[in-house]
Amino acid sequence: MEQDRDRGRWQHAVVIGAGFTGLLAARVLARRFARVTLLERDRLAPGTTHRSGLPQGRHPHGLLARGAAVVEELFPGIRAELAGRGAPVFDFGEGFATRLPHAWAPRTAVGIEVQSLDLTALESALRGRVRAEPAVRVRDGFVVEGLQLSADRRRAVAVTGRDRDDPDHTAVRIEADVIVDAAGRASRLPGWLAAAGLPRPEQRRVASPLVYSSRMYELPEDAAPGWLVSFEMTFPPLVRRGGAAVTVGPGHRLVSVIAPAGELPPPRDETALREFAGSLHNPLFAQVMAQGRPVTPVYRCPVGGNRWFRYDRLRRFPDRLLVLGDAFCAYNPVYGQGLTVAALQAELLGRLLARAGEPAGVAARFQRRAARIALFPWLTATAADQGWTTSRPGPLVNWARRFLGRVLLRVPGDPELYTHFARVQNMLASPLVLLRPSLLHRLLRPARSPQGDGPAQ
Ligand SMILES: Cc1cc2nc3c(=O)[nH]c(=O)nc-3n(C[C@H](O)[C@H](O)[C@H](O)COP(=O)(O)OP(=O)(O)OC[C@H]3O[C@@H](n4cnc5c(N)ncnc54)[C@H](O)[C@@H]3O)c2cc1C
Repeated sequence: MEQDRDRGRWQHAVVIGAGFTGLLAARVLARRFARVTLLERDRLAPGTTHRSGLPQGRHPHGLLARGAAVVEELFPGIRAELAGRGAPVFDFGEGFATRLPHAWAPRTAVGIEVQSLDLTALESALRGRVRAEPAVRVRDGFVVEGLQLSADRRRAVAVTGRDRDDPDHTAVRIEADVIVDAAGRASRLPGWLAAAGLPRPEQRRVASPLVYSSRMYELPEDAAPGWLVSFEMTFPPLVRRGGAAVTVGPGHRLVSVIAPAGELPPPRDETALREFAGSLHNPLFAQVMAQGRPVTPVYRCPVGGNRWFRYDRLRRFPDRLLVLGDAFCAYNPVYGQGLTVAALQAELLGRLLARAGEPAGVAARFQRRAARIALFPWLTATAADQGWTTSRPGPLVNWARRFLGRVLLRVPGDPELYTHFARVQNMLASPLVLLRPSLLHRLLRPARSPQGDGPAQ
């Protein structure tokens, strides 16, 4: 029986992966299910920060204002908790020193509050909250190896896997009323569907051959004032290298340079890092390196390109199975969209579950609507990344690329346009607002040479 009548809840949900997406999914599922099991292949001993399943945890992350709002709604007080541990909250326009392809973005308040943070700190705070949910059990060190469907292959019924530390490698089967794949880029779902005789989803890919090289620096708190996050945006073929630096706690900045693999070796040590930083338009990364003391090795991470598994388009997709976050659609991270898209998808899942009379049928509705959330971020990232290839883009991507190029050209000299663009960047407004006549007019008027505020130093 699915419904736990005493509690008005459904019985059991399983989530594969306890990364950012899995944690948010577990939170919304716990409102509707009597039991939620979060399966994670890494060991998550108390105090775990860096782990092999989270290679991106060594690299700068920005959580856009819209994503942060969803996280705060799901976990009230989390922003203050992180602020208490040193993650600053500030106005996006004032705290971000952004070097766009042609010039600096204006430095002016835009009325958008953001927080600069470290992904591992965010994850461990979320994990603490999720572990405290009476309905949730986190089963770490458990590798999911397969998916089982009903005899007619119309619904997902169980996952199979093993405890990593079990010397006998005993196979374990876990039944569930709903199964959520939040395994990130490591998701094996396409193969599991094929093994069950179902079609694989079409895979859209747009390459972005970038590699992050990152290192944490400790520096006096009054060093490098005037900015909390700095960024140099890539926009190929015009701008092929970039960088990012985020304040992750008092006196700590995580700095990254972003190199096109194949064209030049991504830096591996301090000398190469400094040399690369010195070649950028943005001097702030080199400034942190000069003033700070490195406190970690240099970590490298390829971004993995843009990849979208079109589960939303499959005619035969099992019910009770949902795919969220990077497992569904993963982006070139230089545009900072992945966490926010995942948060919006978790929020959507919560809304659909709250309205549904039973778990049946939620999956297809979810996947279609999750695709709508993924679409604009996909267009933005792939329009920009089209510049890495020589292949001709389709008409929509071509148009989006030219439009984005025009926006990036005009934003530096136009603080009002920047205010609207900052809302779009933070996913607080649809990119379509930039097509309003009043803004379109600003975009289309003849160009002066692009100008913008230089970095505050
Ligand atoms: C260098 C870099 C910088 C980035 N910067 C930004 C940024 O500034 N802003 C932004 O929004 N996004 C950024 N991203 C993207 C962001 O990190 C991802 O979108 C986000 O972390 C995805 O979360 P997820 O939970 O979907 O996947 P993941 O974080 O990959 O989590 C998946 C989890 O599933 C577990 N797992 C996988 N397979 C199994 C299995 N078979 N059994 C059990 N467990 C399993 C893994 O161990 C992992 O813990 C960046 C990414 C990179 C690489």
